[in-house]
Amino acid sequence: MKAIERLLLENKAWAEEHLSADPEFLNKLGIERECEIFWIGCSDSRVHADEITNSEPGSIFVHRNIANSVMTTDINLLSALEYAVDELRIRHVIVCGHYECGGVRAALRKTRPGQFLLNKWLKQIKDVYRLHRAELDALATEHERQRRLVELNVIEQIHNLAQTSTIQRAWTTRKAPELHGWVYGLDDGIIREIAHMDADTPLDPLYEFELGPLA
Ligand SMILES: [Zn+2]
Repeated sequence: MKAIERLLLENKAWAEEHLSADPEFLNKLGIERECEIFWIGCSDSRVHADEITNSEPGSIFVHRNIANSVMTTDINLLSALEYAVDELRIRHVIVCGHYECGGVRAALRKTRPGQFLLNKWLKQIKDVYRLHRAELDALATEHERQRRLVELNVIEQIHNLAQTSTIQRAWTTRKAPELHGWVYGLDDGIIREIAHMDADTPLDPLYEFELGPLA
């Protein structure tokens, strides 16, 4: 059976299984509930926000891209962030990276000439490496460098979030959301928090917005 046919068949089985266990299952899913979490994760097929946190549908608003990047020119991410912060009024933004990340691994290689768009995307991970070159070059193995770059990349994305007007405005007006940098271990299934920022965290003045009446 083709993979795509299997998906549709499994979907029917999933719907039937849940409805037979609870006839109100789909009606409950349709009810809007308070969503407190915005998750920015990697597109990697092994790292699903709901699954690894054992969360119910409706509890996490999700955005994913290669290597969980927060680029301040990415209108897709910034739109989702603005909606999550201003409309859903979420309390927490999580950037969740993961060890053994293919995006981070690719950024450690030489740039491949044919991958025009991917190269631009991965360049900012190379920039994270350059910022921390002394620490990373001092590590003994490629594997250690990869793992540490995953962590440093998550920390950098938390700073990128704090540099957006959306986050700074929300910190000024309602002292939320908190920003969390997490790394998920594919080998042990455990998430570790490695960075945290909130409305009381001092910002580098270079990145501070002059927030006027709109704030
Ligand atoms: Zn990844």
